[in-house]
Amino acid sequence: MKSLLFLVVSVFAFSVTSAQNFVIKNVTVFDGEKLIEKTSVLVENGMIVRVAPKINSNSEVIDGNGKFLMPALTNSHVHAFSALSLNEAASAGVLQVFDMHGMEPYQRQMQETFKDSTNYADFYYAGSAATAPGGHGTQFGFPAPTLTMVAEATDFIDKRIEAGASYIKIIVEPWKETLSHYVVKELIEVAHRKDKIAVVHVSKLDDAYQVLSNGADGLVHVWWDLPITQEEIEVLKSKNEFFVIPTLLTSHLALEAIRKSSPTNNFMTNEAITAEAKKLYDAGIPLLAGTDPPNAQINYGTDLYREMVLFSKAGIPNIEVLKTATSNPSKYFGLKDMGYIKEGFKANMLLLDESPIDKMDNMKTITTIWKMGKEVDRN
Ligand SMILES: [Zn+2]
Repeated sequence: MKSLLFLVVSVFAFSVTSAQNFVIKNVTVFDGEKLIEKTSVLVENGMIVRVAPKINSNSEVIDGNGKFLMPALTNSHVHAFSALSLNEAASAGVLQVFDMHGMEPYQRQMQETFKDSTNYADFYYAGSAATAPGGHGTQFGFPAPTLTMVAEATDFIDKRIEAGASYIKIIVEPWKETLSHYVVKELIEVAHRKDKIAVVHVSKLDDAYQVLSNGADGLVHVWWDLPITQEEIEVLKSKNEFFVIPTLLTSHLALEAIRKSSPTNNFMTNEAITAEAKKLYDAGIPLLAGTDPPNAQINYGTDLYREMVLFSKAGIPNIEVLKTATSNPSKYFGLKDMGYIKEGFKANMLLLDESPIDKMDNMKTITTIWKMGKEVDRN
C-alpha cells in the first residue's frame, strides 16, 4: 500500500511539473522546412500546439525578438555505450541519436530508461550490425553475432527486431572479412519485408554502388576511395531512393590517422571526400548529419555542429544543412513527432542568439534547449 501511495504521489508530482506551458513571441523560426520571420510558438504539456504571428495565451511569455528557434538536432550515426553519452548529446541540443552497432540487452535498457527524460537524448538503435565472422564490428570486445549465408538472413533480422532494433545496419568492409553482396541483398529484402529500413556501412565506391543497386535505404558513411561520376549517380537515382550520412568529420579525422600509418593506400583527400557530399546534395540525394562518436575521439554533443559547418563549407545552403540534422532524420528514419516546429510535434527545440542561416558556426550560440517543453540542464 505504501508503495502504491508513493506511485500515485510521484505520478501526480510528475504531471504537475511537466505542465510547462509557454509562448515564445516574435522569433525567427526554422520549422524543419522553411524560415518564418516574426512568429510565435505556443507550447503546452510538452507539445507544440500553435505556430502563428499572434497568439493569445495566459502562459509565460519568452521574448524571442532577434533570436532564432529551430527543432532539436538528431545525430544519425553514433555508438553510445552509456548514459553519459546521451547526457552529453542533450546538453548540446542533440535530443535524438541513432546507434549503428552495439550491445543489444544494454541498448534496450538505455532506450527504456532514458526515453522522454529531459537531460538525455532519446536513443534509437540497430542492435548488432550484420557482419561476417572476423569482419568489421567484431573487434570491439563485445559480443557481435555474425552470418555468412543467404539462408541465415531471416533469422538474423528476426533477432534484431526481437532485441528492439528500429532499423537494420549492415557492414560491407573489404579491408577485413566481409559479407557477400548476395547476403547483403537478402538482408535488405528481409528487412523491407519486415518494415525496417536497411542502412549500410561502406568505404568503397564500388560497394556503395552495389548495395544501393540492391535496394539499401541509406549509407552510413560516404566512400573514401574514388569520386563518383554523374552518370553513376543518375543510374543509382533511377533504381532506388536513398539517403547518405556522409560522416565527413569522422572521415577526415580517421583518414588523417590512417594516411600516416599506411601511406601506400590510396584514399581521396579530405577536400575530395567533402566534394562527394556536395555532389550528392546537388543530385538531390538527401543528406543526414552524423559523426560516429566515439570514433576519432568525436564527442556526442557539440561535434555535430562541426559536421554541419563542413556541409556548409562544401557549398550546401545553410537552410538545407539545418534539415540534415532535423527534419531529414525524422523523415527517413520514420520518427513521427520530432524534427519540426509544427503543431502536433514534440517541443524539442533550440533557441539561439544568432542565426545559423547567416553562419553555420552560430550553432554554438544556443541559449536554451527544451525537451518536451522542459528546459535541459546544460551543466
Ligand atoms: Zn559507426
